Amino acid sequence: MKNIKIIIRRALCKSATTCIAIAPNIYALDNEFKAIVKTGKKISESEFHCEVGEEKLTTILAGARACPYNAIEVYDKGSGKKLYPPG
Ligand code: SF4
Repeated sequence: MKNIKIIIRRALCKSATTCIAIAPNIYALDNEFKAIVKTGKKISESEFHCEVGEEKLTTILAGARACPYNAIEVYDKGSGKKLYPPG
């Protein structure tokens, strides 16, 4: 299992919902039509922590890649390494 941190950059999220189409068990929209993470622990309106296995991580990253605005950032909490987007 891996501990990850997901940041939704709310200013970039344009409610395209592609992340939700790809990963409906992970992402949803809140009442301001900004993406949130349904799974794991909510730290703030834009930060979510979860413990994931390989399969769930793959789904989380697929949803992040699907966002046309790169509004979803995924980090390995242990190492601090950014898993997505690259760079
Ligand atoms: S795909 Fe991107 S813009 Fe669309 S809801 Fe998800 S985070 Fe927001």
